Amino acid sequence: MIVRARHYVTGLRLDFAVEDGKFKGIRDANTAKPDREAGWIAPALFDLQINGCLGIDFSSPTVTVEQVRQVIDECRKHGIAGLLPTLITNSFEAIVHGLGTLKKARETDPVVAAAVPGFHVEGPYIASEDGPRGAHPRKHARDPDFDEFQRWQDAAGGQIRLFTLAPERAGALRFIEQVARTGVVVAIGHTAATPAIIRDAVAAGAKLSTHIGNGSHAVLPRHENYIWEQLAADELWASMIPDGHHLPPSLVKVIVRAKTPRRTIITCDASSLAGLPPGRYGEWEVQPSGRVAVPGTPFLAGSGSFTDSCVGNTIRMAGVSLAEAVDMASAHPRELLGLPNWELSEGATSPFMLFDWEPGGEFVVREVIGVGSRRP
Ligand SMILES: [Zn+2]
Repeated sequence: MIVRARHYVTGLRLDFAVEDGKFKGIRDANTAKPDREAGWIAPALFDLQINGCLGIDFSSPTVTVEQVRQVIDECRKHGIAGLLPTLITNSFEAIVHGLGTLKKARETDPVVAAAVPGFHVEGPYIASEDGPRGAHPRKHARDPDFDEFQRWQDAAGGQIRLFTLAPERAGALRFIEQVARTGVVVAIGHTAATPAIIRDAVAAGAKLSTHIGNGSHAVLPRHENYIWEQLAADELWASMIPDGHHLPPSLVKVIVRAKTPRRTIITCDASSLAGLPPGRYGEWEVQPSGRVAVPGTPFLAGSGSFTDSCVGNTIRMAGVSLAEAVDMASAHPRELLGLPNWELSEGATSPFMLFDWEPGGEFVVREVIGVGSRRP
């Protein structure tokens, strides 16, 4: 199969020969008719934080293996070939059920196994107060417990790769050291920490700020606060949600300038309501703008968007290049987790996406080809 598109870094129009999901040859586009043609080609997207979509919630106590696969298939339509399914603050048993279901889905479905290199547990060791807690249930927010974490890691078959917590909780700094030592990436998020505690968390081994600027107070001290401190900490990567609702364009730009594109990661933080039409769904609602909110509060409940539209938004809001924005949603999160980069090079078997995009315009994924797809 010959795929013709412009390389997302160089802009060169190339013919990619692909066989059995492997790049067999790459050359300048010629006159022969290609099998597939699109505006651009790039490595497929990878998201650290997907909570579900289409009404399916990975944190639901009844989530099934089949539902996990449905989410993977929907993500793929948006260019996302890899993701960390994310479980949020919940009871011990509910998190065990979620992790066990995700583990079983990986073991029984090769498409899930190819797309899911591990899981993200966000909470329950987060701030209890309104604002930093976000839409996580207050009754399950609690202090870190390494034994509990180890039991979750057992239920997950060792597949928890990312763990988000609030470092001001009692015992959190010691917990960060213990968890980081096991190879799991520890992230700071849903926190009300003082700047000093943010610095202590970095020293203890935290590597990421989870969706910086969200899961925070509506009003903060103007100089000394946990957002500035994390922006200034060069040791921390930062994920952000540039879906058009979670952060104003100026803040997206400031985050990228402070962290530099090199340490910025795009996540969509898709909620279970992503991909659904506007309406009330239990405690949450999808508003006509696509905003997913807790009705009657200023707080958001995850995103209704997927990573593809966030890439287009980041180019517009932060003034970065196409290649920089794509890397924030593919190469960077994989690097953070210690996963091999997805490459567009001869011999590589990386999943890739074909998409259309023009400067200032929308980012529209046509298809993902490669690992985990049902066609070559
Ligand atoms: Zn969150």
